[in-house]
Amino acid sequence: MMHLAFLVLLCLPVCSAYPLSGAAKEEDSNRDLAQQYLEKYYNLEKDVKQFRRKDSNLIVKKIQGMQKFLGLEVTGKLDTDTLEVMRKPRCGVPDVGHFSSFPGMPKWRKTHLTYRIVNHTPDLPRDAVDSAIEKALKVWEEVTPLTFSRLYEGEADIMISFAVKEHGDFYSFDGPGHSLAHAYPPGPGLYGDIHFDDDEKWTEDASGTNLFLVAAHELGHSLGLFHSANTEALMYPLYNSFTELAQFRLSQDDVNGIQSLYGPPPASTEEPLVPTKSVPSGSEVPAKCDPALSFDAISTLRGEYLFFKDRYFWRRSHWNPEPEFHLISAFWPSLPSYLDAAYEVNSRDTVFIFKGNEFWAIRGNEVQAGYPRGIHTLGFPSTIRKIDAAVSDKEKKKTYFFAEDKYWRFDENSQSMEQGFPRLIADDFPGVEPKVDAVLQAFGFFYFFSGSSQFEFDPNARMVTHILKSNSWLHC
Ligand SMILES: [Zn+2]
Ligand SMILES: [Zn+2]
Repeated sequence: MMHLAFLVLLCLPVCSAYPLSGAAKEEDSNRDLAQQYLEKYYNLEKDVKQFRRKDSNLIVKKIQGMQKFLGLEVTGKLDTDTLEVMRKPRCGVPDVGHFSSFPGMPKWRKTHLTYRIVNHTPDLPRDAVDSAIEKALKVWEEVTPLTFSRLYEGEADIMISFAVKEHGDFYSFDGPGHSLAHAYPPGPGLYGDIHFDDDEKWTEDASGTNLFLVAAHELGHSLGLFHSANTEALMYPLYNSFTELAQFRLSQDDVNGIQSLYGPPPASTEEPLVPTKSVPSGSEVPAKCDPALSFDAISTLRGEYLFFKDRYFWRRSHWNPEPEFHLISAFWPSLPSYLDAAYEVNSRDTVFIFKGNEFWAIRGNEVQAGYPRGIHTLGFPSTIRKIDAAVSDKEKKKTYFFAEDKYWRFDENSQSMEQGFPRLIADDFPGVEPKVDAVLQAFGFFYFFSGSSQFEFDPNARMVTHILKSNSWLHC
């Protein structure tokens, strides 16, 4: 489940050759707390020095990200509220940078699942544990077509256990408080499983850590849900001890999330969640599983993938393998259809959209002022009337533009086209078909789309490693 970076995280004791004053000690321990918290839950890379430079932009950004996600005032500072939240008990699953969904998708492919309670906590009678788990399963059963049955031996889909400290998955528990439990997204083996930290005091009521509440939250992960930033949601990462247990119900946010994966329960008369109001039906609407499907342009947008085709796009989020289908105009009324190219520059939180000799900049739902601009302002020669595809390498901060059999490289730092280009696609991306429709960067590869084929290109080995159908990303 965890990104490798998380697996190697451990505490960093502060070493100092000199005794520290009380205030300095406290500042140090706050900084350690924050560092561990951001590493564990916000995908902060382990780098002590960077954290010790107080002005580090990255740290401020991570703190802001955490404050935003958890509904705190966004100050970018380790203020009292922020430190207090960092000390609160919570789910051990990270809030960002957690599982990605390619090629494994975090959703069960069946509606009947098995669970097994592998061991029991000594804090509660066995049947109290059993009934807390059953109640937690019911929470999700009520709003989906999913059903659960219990196994007493062998391998169940969801293996539930209590453990302390290091317990065999490289993701140690931390004693009383802080991380209470964690769970893995759907899949075989360890996936789907739930571990409770048995250093907590598990209770039936709210006097300790309520087992039912934590189990219901962790089951959400076992079924494929990610953390929600909605403070009302069961899938909010912090443990909420004030919940009136008798009146517990899922928030609409939780219901929408789980129903987007599995749909509503079969007997329900409730309308299934329809992603968009206005996609017309008819022969001109592209079908995602058409084997001949090609794309006009592909981009990421804040961690999601957008696949543009004619007047439409499919939107695929990390945690939901089933793509949503929308009209481009439903999101960005002023954008054209039948796009040529699109790419995201993460550091600017901007997606650039190309059609003909013009391009637009969008941020979330908003088309930025001052666009469209002419593509020649980027440094293309006047002979270029349009481009075919573009992709931005977020690590190297270079953007590649493809047109016919050539490509250009743009430096995002200096905001200028690099010297020595264009070059031939065939020379630098051997094996890729010329006439590229779209390019996507993911998992360290470039995916070149050409008609209904897709070429997975390893930039280090400089070779095509797989040839796939273009629509392999659309859950066909
Ligand atoms: Zn969680
Ligand atoms: Zn574990």
